[in-house]
Amino acid sequence: MPSDLPPDEPSAERDLRHAESVALARDLIRIDSTNGNETPVAELLADRLASAGVEVELVARDPARANLIARIPGTGAGPSLALVGHSDVVPADPRDWTHPPFAGVLDDAGYLWGRGAVDMKNEVAARAAAMASLARSGWRGRGDLLLVIVADEEDGAAEVGMNWLVTQRPDIATTYALNEGGGFGFRLADGRHMVEVSVGEKGTCPVRVDALGEAGHASTPTVGDNAVPRLGELLRRIGRGEPEPQDHPAVRTMLDALLGDGSVDRLGLAGAIDSASRLHPVLRDSLPSVAGTTMAPTVLHGSTARNVMPARAGVELDCRILPGTTEDEVIAAVRRRLGDDLPYEVYLAEPAVHGNASGASGALWDLVSTWCAEHLGAAPMPTLCSGFTDSVYLRRAFGTVAYGFSPFLTTPTEVVEAGYHNRDERIHVDDIALSADFHAFAARHLLGG
Ligand SMILES: [Zn+2]
Repeated sequence: MPSDLPPDEPSAERDLRHAESVALARDLIRIDSTNGNETPVAELLADRLASAGVEVELVARDPARANLIARIPGTGAGPSLALVGHSDVVPADPRDWTHPPFAGVLDDAGYLWGRGAVDMKNEVAARAAAMASLARSGWRGRGDLLLVIVADEEDGAAEVGMNWLVTQRPDIATTYALNEGGGFGFRLADGRHMVEVSVGEKGTCPVRVDALGEAGHASTPTVGDNAVPRLGELLRRIGRGEPEPQDHPAVRTMLDALLGDGSVDRLGLAGAIDSASRLHPVLRDSLPSVAGTTMAPTVLHGSTARNVMPARAGVELDCRILPGTTEDEVIAAVRRRLGDDLPYEVYLAEPAVHGNASGASGALWDLVSTWCAEHLGAAPMPTLCSGFTDSVYLRRAFGTVAYGFSPFLTTPTEVVEAGYHNRDERIHVDDIALSADFHAFAARHLLGG
């Protein structure tokens, strides 16, 4: 297992941190915190951290759904860092799993199995173990080190987790934050090893398109003007909903990391996306998707009665938007795709939820880059996450520079990615220990002390 800085850290402390991170991940998996029962997770973490001498506090809007705030106060003015995670998991049906999802089975090959093994009790355990280890060693940074573990990330609708906490507790504002969403490695066709660091999140802007016609009796299909066949034509034009590429700072940053600086000016936007997409099978799908407004058709609406041809037939488009894209721009993009020769309406199906991003530069970026080079032999690849994370709230409320990063080295990327919200989620324990080392390093080097 790769060891970590500082070089003068007693190896006994490092071994203890490794053992503690793995044991804690296992104990956390054994708590069934399927969205709605997160307090036992917060209590377990509070207990472990308090015994290492860390100040801990549970903060709950709903007693069953407590959040944890733990803090090692800094000694003076300096940047501060929050290690962030969520305590809830998505549901798991035991019938689909090789090992029961809440048993925390550790197999002979060193894999820890269970719901939350990669999303994200592994990271929660690694971050908590890093903090406990720093506290035991008497370390204090110049700025505060926080651990903020929140409920209700996977759904978010209850407003008891991070979206609520940022409004109640401005004291969790930090200069930097490390959260979920990155750390997966892949080797490019040209031999380079890259590791994803999530610098931002796309937003969602669900749109509905209604084909318009005139109702009629289904026994005489040519009477009236059935909207369903018209919707069929509109769906053909939407296709699978791939985006038009957008010249956006986050897209340029990604392309430059893969192709060298100035790639868009050299190759054109479409050319650069095409060249970069050829570098790895994962990029073939992910890169074009993240480079603009996707508009995947998902939900259909037709007649409410089989014998009535409807005047209106609709489709919901799950549109995912780059930071800064407005609702009007999304509607305009959908209209460009559909043309203006057929009668239809486009409108928002629900209010948009906007994403945001931190730049791929500055002290946290440099630290992650250095660590990746030294410990993984890899270069960081700044990506935008196509899903949602709580980093969006931290950036919006406090202007925090928040990245998704927790390193994976031993667990193959395919195993990590297949586990998300799926059956047989598992992680090699060496990656939990490695992540604990990374977070201890990050705190020491960002906050000094
Ligand atoms: Zn997650």
